[in-house]
Amino acid sequence: MVIGDEPHRPYDRPPLSKEFLTGPYDEDRLLLRPTADPANLDFTLKLGRKAIELDVEQGRVMLDDGEVITYEGLVIATGAQPRRLPASAGAEGASGLHVLRSLDDARSLREDLHPGKRVLVVGAGFIGAEVAASARQMGCEVTLIDLASAPLDRVLDSASGMAIADLHRSNGVDVRLEVALDHVEVDEGGRVKRSVLSSGDVVAIDTVVVGIGVVPNTGWLSGSGLTVDDGVVADETCLAAPRVVVAGDVAKWPNRSFGGRMMRVEQWDNAIDQGGYAGRRIVAAIKGDALATPVEPYAPIPWFWSDQYDRKIQLAGMPTERAELMQGAVADRQFVKAFLDEDDVVQGVLCWNRPRQAVLGRQLVAAGESVAAARERLG
Ligand SMILES: Cc1cc2nc3c(=O)[nH]c(=O)nc-3n(C[C@H](O)[C@H](O)[C@H](O)COP(=O)(O)OP(=O)(O)OC[C@H]3O[C@@H](n4cnc5c(N)ncnc54)[C@H](O)[C@@H]3O)c2cc1C
Repeated sequence: MVIGDEPHRPYDRPPLSKEFLTGPYDEDRLLLRPTADPANLDFTLKLGRKAIELDVEQGRVMLDDGEVITYEGLVIATGAQPRRLPASAGAEGASGLHVLRSLDDARSLREDLHPGKRVLVVGAGFIGAEVAASARQMGCEVTLIDLASAPLDRVLDSASGMAIADLHRSNGVDVRLEVALDHVEVDEGGRVKRSVLSSGDVVAIDTVVVGIGVVPNTGWLSGSGLTVDDGVVADETCLAAPRVVVAGDVAKWPNRSFGGRMMRVEQWDNAIDQGGYAGRRIVAAIKGDALATPVEPYAPIPWFWSDQYDRKIQLAGMPTERAELMQGAVADRQFVKAFLDEDDVVQGVLCWNRPRQAVLGRQLVAAGESVAAARERLG
């Protein structure tokens, strides 16, 4: 049985900030199994139903309509939700104020992206940067702000982050860094009309998109006995409790490929991989000792991509403080960079419009190769 609180059939989120916002994808193209008849699936799909409580001892999940479901094995994959602006920003409930996580969010934002509309994007992480690019493609006037000194500062080195800023500026976005949103003013109709920044600058707006990160959906697990600490904490096989496994954006586990570092990965590729692993892991947990094969730890090399304008940005592995250019030039926005640890072992590879090298880069990280091997294979 699969339970989800959204009313829609399972769909893919990455196009929501890209092809769905700019037009080429309609809703049918988002569906994960477009041709599958929900009536003929070999599992029960309960949509529009929220899990509100978990009793690990009894093996029970309570739903918001009062139904109690008993399970032999449970996979928690409740994802994450967008972080909201603080109440002091004064925009709560205003029309023209958006976040972007779900199909409903994307439908509503798409309505507001028309040529000439003034859009303020708060947060230059991946979602903010992609929305800014899509809004520009839709002919909007876009201002993109971030508190950090470079876009994507959580995941990229500052030179690559500044290349993102340049990419947006050259496409007509007004990028302002080291500045926060102080508050938003609304008109008599309750629609956003002006934003005041921490610098004191005032920006006239028709729409605000808030992309300031996500928080894992763990609220329903309070009192369950599971360890929750920015995600549901699990062991290296994704087991959070006997017969309870976690996967996707909500999962936090020690990744053996990175020395057992605790990770929570907010990326599509990991959600797919860890979902598959979680399915196998829960079967093993249910079968217990009867299972002949030992359970291998879940130790992936994370990988993600982001599409902005005509650039495909891909990162395999993890960024570090030490980056070395392997190919191309950052200024040309077509390059390959390796991230190294203190022993010159490759921890991550960043590629701009170099998809083949991204695949190679992932292999290099997985094999624990040195910078010399990276130069040879990526250079
Ligand atoms: C706009 C957008 C663009 C993205 N683009 C990229 C990209 O280009 N590249 C990339 O690598 N990644 C991208 N991602 C990230 C990627 O989509 C996520 O990592 C992935 O969706 C995580 O999958 P998940 O199943 O863990 O969580 P989710 O996709 O969030 O699914 C969790 C589901 O559980 C539901 N739920 C939550 N709580 C409950 C509850 N108590 N009861 C019942 N149901 C509940 C949620 O409503 C949701 O439907 C993007 C994400 C977004 C939002």
